[in-house]
Amino acid sequence: MAKKKALITGINGQDGSYLTELLLEKDYEVGGIIRRTSKPNLTKIEHLLDKIKIYDGDLLDQGSIDRSILDFNPDEVYNLAAQSFVKTSWNQPILTGDVTGMGAVRVLEAIRNHKPDAKFYQASSSEMFGNTTDEFISEESPFMATSPYAIAKLYAHYMTQNYRDSYDLYACGGILFNHESPRRGIEFVTRKITYAVACVSQGVEQSKMGNELKEPLIQNGKFKLGFLGSSRDWGYAGDYVEAMWLMLQQDEPDDFVIATGRSATIEEFLEIAFDCVGIDNWKKYVGTDERFKRPSELKHLRGDASKAKKKLGWEPETSLEELVEMMIRSDVELVKKFELN
Ligand code: NAP
Repeated sequence: MAKKKALITGINGQDGSYLTELLLEKDYEVGGIIRRTSKPNLTKIEHLLDKIKIYDGDLLDQGSIDRSILDFNPDEVYNLAAQSFVKTSWNQPILTGDVTGMGAVRVLEAIRNHKPDAKFYQASSSEMFGNTTDEFISEESPFMATSPYAIAKLYAHYMTQNYRDSYDLYACGGILFNHESPRRGIEFVTRKITYAVACVSQGVEQSKMGNELKEPLIQNGKFKLGFLGSSRDWGYAGDYVEAMWLMLQQDEPDDFVIATGRSATIEEFLEIAFDCVGIDNWKKYVGTDERFKRPSELKHLRGDASKAKKKLGWEPETSLEELVEMMIRSDVELVKKFELN
């Protein structure tokens, strides 16, 4: 029997790399769309390059998406590419709208025109719920997006539903709450914390890591964050990509919230991270900086994934403590290689 084929946009991102590993294990042929950058950034999928087919393409460029779909002829398409950093979306709202919002529609158009029987997964986000007051947020909760990123994701989510209803496409919106891993980008708060804590634990006073952050992460033995009181529902990316795949294996397309049901503040995350390296007076090493605060702060997110549990049989397997420990362990190794040599 011919192998199933999956095409992934954003294949070199955190989720793209875990999803590729999962699909290869399931004996899929995997293709990925990668945009051109002056300095190629394939570190997360370097170990997979001989097993996948790469297409040069960009969510801003309809022709390149069309050609990838026509050539690869996928059974499943996972749209994971996005301008995915909320803070940047205030500085680059037009780009964010174009890539994160319109980009999804370009992929949907390519499917509608060239491969209408392909199943489509859209990487929707819990940020779309914004400042909803529901204690546990489910598929029934109202959307109250508060950032250009969330608004762009909401547009893409509604268009996914619209293509499902209008053209009978098998299109799903996976509304994923925050999920992290050792492969999380360094500008995201969780990874910033685990890398900085790894530096502190190894006695690094001045970090060499600054390229992507545009300034050294650790200066004089301290690192700075934004608002510490925000709470998020954090899961492990490796668990969450399984839910993406499950959504495309059902009889009917649908939207699902994917979350752990536990919410913790950034302060609590810091405590767990410092605890992993045996340091209890963490406030000595952490400062706050107005520059890292968002113009409109989203204070609380906690998801209710009962629908996914009931219909997909999906449940998270990794606790927050296990996730933080995994990230710290990996970052300590990285710090030893990168900072101490
Ligand atoms: P990520 O690591 O930032 O990956 C995003 C990917 O999109 C990167 O590979 C990036 O390529 C690519 N990309 C950006 N602009 C592009 C463009 N114009 N054309 C083609 N590719 C482009 O994000 P992630 O954490 O894996 O998340 C995957 C998706 O889920 C994203 O859409 C994100 O918004 C969404 N999401 C994430 C979370 C979470 O907590 N992680 C939660 C809910 C939803 P470069 O490597 O070249 O930059």
